[in-house]
Amino acid sequence: MSSFLEQLYSLAGKTALVLGASRGIGFSLAEGLQLAGAEVYGLSRSSSSVQKCNFNYVRCDVTNDFELRSVIEGINEKSKSIAKSIDILVNAAGITVPDTDEDIDMRLESFEKTLDVNLRAPFHAISLVSEFMKESGGGSIINVTSIAAEAGFPGNPSYVASKGALKLLTKAFAEDLAIHNIRVNNLSPGYILTDMTRNSYKDEHLRSLRTRNMMLKRWGTTEDLVGAVIYLAGDGSSYVTGSDLMVDGGWSAKGFV
Ligand code: NAP
Repeated sequence: MSSFLEQLYSLAGKTALVLGASRGIGFSLAEGLQLAGAEVYGLSRSSSSVQKCNFNYVRCDVTNDFELRSVIEGINEKSKSIAKSIDILVNAAGITVPDTDEDIDMRLESFEKTLDVNLRAPFHAISLVSEFMKESGGGSIINVTSIAAEAGFPGNPSYVASKGALKLLTKAFAEDLAIHNIRVNNLSPGYILTDMTRNSYKDEHLRSLRTRNMMLKRWGTTEDLVGAVIYLAGDGSSYVTGSDLMVDGGWSAKGFV
């Protein structure tokens, strides 16, 4: 790589934190950031990553405030001891749970559970990590939103609300943190085949309905998102903040007939 390209896209010397890294999108993003040169710490609840990973895997429930705080502080201390602090935060942990139960209490429970992981945990992580980034002179924060942040999808109001709110949380933090040279952006995937979407992918009717609305006429892979996260994490995007990077095969730009 020429030194010009290296300056734009290499993450050598940077420390990255990926929340939700045991599998799926977060796993691929963590692997990609590590391959681009960053020292990566991936956090999830599972005892280990489902695949053998090349990054540092740390067990953590991101909705447990005490656990999240102590894990993040520990990683930052470790990084500081080798003259670095956390430079990159990726919020990729996410859940979707049935929330149209007849029982209203069950619905409320699902709503709260969804918002805890998809919205409250990113808010907490950004609040913690941005303090370290302020001290070290800047950083890049990437929130994994969704095309569900753009429109009212059927049958999952909690998920749609959580992603819509996360999209705007990004813009609010981008405004507040810009003065500290911290950029905050959304990485917005379309339909990507993971454990989260496997059942709907297996449903031929649903799969073809969804594929019809994509310009590229195929579902994405988790690897399709890696170039975008490397771009948002590094200096190649130094003048980009508060934005939505859609990696959705053209879903959000397509006109419908
Ligand atoms: P996935 O395969 O189900 O993976 C979800 C990840 O989140 C896992 O690593 C899981 O790890 C972690 N997680 C969930 N709850 C957690 C908690 N309390 N603490 C720590 N980690 C937790 O889903 P995915 O498709 O890769 O989704 C990743 C992100 O992309 C989510 O935010 C999702 O909303 C978003 N997204 C996905 C799609 C898609 O089509 N797949 C589209 C748009 C956006 P553990 O279970 O080990 O904790």
